[in-house]
Order: sequence, then structure tokens, then C-alpha cells
Amino acid sequence: MLDKYSRQIEKHFLNPRNQGIIKNSDGEALINESQCGDVMKVYIKIGKRPISENSKSEKYIKNIKVENLSGCFAIVAAASVMTEIVKGKSLKEVLKLIDKNIIDELGGLPLSKMHCASMVVKGIEMAINNYREK
Ligand SMILES: [Zn+2]
Repeated sequence: MLDKYSRQIEKHFLNPRNQGIIKNSDGEALINESQCGDVMKVYIKIGKRPISENSKSEKYIKNIKVENLSGCFAIVAAASVMTEIVKGKSLKEVLKLIDKNIIDELGGLPLSKMHCASMVVKGIEMAINNYREK
């Protein structure tokens, strides 16, 4: 079944990065996608680092974990790629993430699986919003 999809999808599906949970996370999100029963949870830990000598600092994704509770292979691969993209990036940069970044990184997605890319983008946005609401 997998060989009609890209090698990248296969690689990330077989060995997904940053799986698990973060206890005492700074932000969390639960995302449900009815189309193929994808359910996942995103946990983030936020860090702060200086960006210049004049004492300015920025917030960034210090750690991220994803729990794929159920769903298709594409959501597992998309979530894995998303965690690799956002880890270490500033919140400002992460909020610019779009579906296409995920799709490109996966080497494409079949039409029926496009929702997986939007779902993981929505997931990280919701986790950041959750952090900001605290
Ligand atoms: Zn799916």
C-alpha cells in the first residue's frame, strides 16, 4: 500500500519523531478530524532566548511531542514532519507555517490525505493559542 506514496511518508510513518506526551506542558491541543478518524494531541514547551544585545528576547518551541491517538498513516507522517520543522523555531516563525510546508517536506500527499497537513498545522497553532490563553 505504501509504495504509491513518497519515501518520506514511509520513513516518518515507520519511525515517527517526537512521539509521546510532555508532562507540565506550556500548551496543549486536541485535534479531531472526522474524515478518516484522525485524533491527535500536541504538547509544547516554550523557551525564551535573547535575540539581540539590547536585551530583547523571543519565545520559541523548546520541545514538542505528539500523541497520535488514532488515525491514518498520513497523519502520523505529517505530525512527525511538523514536529521536526517547528522544534527550535520562534513562535512568530511557527505561526507562519502553512499546509504546503508540510506537504513539500513529505514529498507530496495524495488528494485524499491533504487534510492531514492542515490538521497538523492547526494542531501547533492551537497549542500555541492554548499557551497564550494561560
Ligand atoms: Zn487522515
